[in-house]
Amino acid sequence: MNIVLLGPPGAGKGTQAKRLIEKFAIPQVSTGDMLRAALKEGTPLGLEAKKYMDQGALVPDSVVIGLVKERIQKSDCDKGYMLDGFPRNVSQAGALDEMLTQLGQKIDDVVCIEVPNEELTARLTGRRTCRNCGAGYHVLFDPPKTENVCDRCGGELYQRDDDNVKTVSSRLQTYESQTKPLIDYYEKQGKIRRINGVGNMEGIFNLIAAALNR
Ligand code: AMP
Repeated sequence: MNIVLLGPPGAGKGTQAKRLIEKFAIPQVSTGDMLRAALKEGTPLGLEAKKYMDQGALVPDSVVIGLVKERIQKSDCDKGYMLDGFPRNVSQAGALDEMLTQLGQKIDDVVCIEVPNEELTARLTGRRTCRNCGAGYHVLFDPPKTENVCDRCGGELYQRDDDNVKTVSSRLQTYESQTKPLIDYYEKQGKIRRINGVGNMEGIFNLIAAALNR
């Protein structure tokens, strides 16, 4: 089962992916997470990617296509995978189709989580993550008991570098101009499952799970 999770930044792709991979027993392949890991390790690829990420722009296609190609050939992807944040434009989608044809695979479903822009900005700028255990919080919608301290492990909470108001606005524009055309691309392939991403996490998870179990 090979799935693409599509949707604007802040739509809840990462959060939903974490639950969906448990239900379907396949790994999450997040290009954003892979790039942040490379940056944390200080690799040349990570440092190069940071220039684009800080501006809310897309990292060059050749970089992310290479990362995904290598990742999906690992043995834990044998029964499928959930792509989160990739493809991000039509050229990446074409490269993915080509790569999968070569590997004798295909994308089965594309889940598109839809959320209005005003809500996305509020969600993204209030997002906080625990440096230690990775737990997610929101300063308004899901605050920790003590400001900046993780309820679960006591770790320090931080804001992603690209969740500030200016970069969020660029990321939303990048989504509109480059990523949204993918809805059409996959619509033509008959693979799009549109999901209303406004509401509680559980309800949205159930909608996605139902769409994938069709
Ligand atoms: P995300 O965690 O998916 O919101 O991604 C964070 C940032 O990483 C994006 O704003 C881009 O700069 C970069 N990025 C992640 N995935 C891709 C991709 N498929 N293509 C290009 N850039 C990406």
